[in-house]
Amino acid sequence: MKRVYNFSAGPSMLPEEVLRKAADEILDYKGCGQSVMEMSHRSSVFQGIIDRAESLLREVMGIPDNYKVLFLQGGASSQFAMIPLNLMVNSHKADYVLTGQWATKSWKEASRYGETRVIASSKDKTFTYIPKLDPKTFTPDADYFYICMNNTIYGTLYHTLPETGKVPLVADISSCICSEPLDVSKFGLLFAGAQKNLAPAGLTIVIVREDLVGHAQEITPTMFNYKTHVDGGSMFNTPPCWTIYICMMVLDWIQNTVGGLGEMQKRNQKKAKLLYDYLDNSKLFRGTVVPEDRSLMNVPFVTDSDELNAKFVKESTEAGFVNLKGHRTVGGMRASIYNAMPYEGVEKLVDFMDKFEKANG
Ligand SMILES: *Cc1c(COP(=O)(O)O)cnc(C)c1O
Repeated sequence: MKRVYNFSAGPSMLPEEVLRKAADEILDYKGCGQSVMEMSHRSSVFQGIIDRAESLLREVMGIPDNYKVLFLQGGASSQFAMIPLNLMVNSHKADYVLTGQWATKSWKEASRYGETRVIASSKDKTFTYIPKLDPKTFTPDADYFYICMNNTIYGTLYHTLPETGKVPLVADISSCICSEPLDVSKFGLLFAGAQKNLAPAGLTIVIVREDLVGHAQEITPTMFNYKTHVDGGSMFNTPPCWTIYICMMVLDWIQNTVGGLGEMQKRNQKKAKLLYDYLDNSKLFRGTVVPEDRSLMNVPFVTDSDELNAKFVKESTEAGFVNLKGHRTVGGMRASIYNAMPYEGVEKLVDFMDKFEKANG
């Protein structure tokens, strides 16, 4: 067996020890004679799994008691509609900051359900920075203020949060959830598709302050109402059982093998620094993002030649570094170095880049 270093933006690498444990338990989960894939979501065994996943997430992220945790389906993209349907219920206004494609898609969707305002955008420079925000320009009576915290495609991260006062801050944390500590109490709602940092595809995590639940717009479909899932303990309908099970094991890995989010952050900073330092000193490659807004998780980089970019993608793939091709809107390359990417993977990639630079520079 040979495993590659997978730099995919998502779905992405999972910790090897989690995959091994899942393999061990695939036919018989803890002596119950069946796989988690096969078991009833109403069984006490599965109830134990979802309860443990929730309590681990609460422990890992330090989620206060007045927040609900939901395990949903429909991807992060469904939240683009669920958020306005559930939260745009008083002034029917919401503020958005456009820092990339995901924020833009979310803003467009919300605009179908209420009055949205774009507070700032970094589109003028292909989303290579996070705009400076002035709270005086925010809508004072908005129902929420929306950001995409880590911009997966462009490789930017909010290193400081906007000061929204009483207006609930809502953040898409799909590609940075559990990558470093985050003060959940600063947000009204957080959500993430799990396939970047926590699990296989099929699970969407929503963390919502309880006072924001239960006021959905009249037209809200039952399945899109947070209250449905709060009341049903994320089991109004069949939840993505297998994905929740893997998520539970990944959270256990973060908490008990890595040692929590403080340690996770140190690992991620060390990995990212290795790659950014190389890029800053390279004469062939360069990062595309302004240094102060760089993501810890997604690192886009280019050479000045499309031909060399293509050659690099081809040769790196052959050498076992896969999915390094950049998003079509940015071009070049992107290395997604999520929690499960070992330091050694980045070290070997940097060695490979250095050799490529010497051969082609
Ligand atoms: C991947 C991603 C999405 C889309 O997630 P789906 O689960 O495919 O809907 C949304 N936002 C961000 C920041 C992402 O990285």
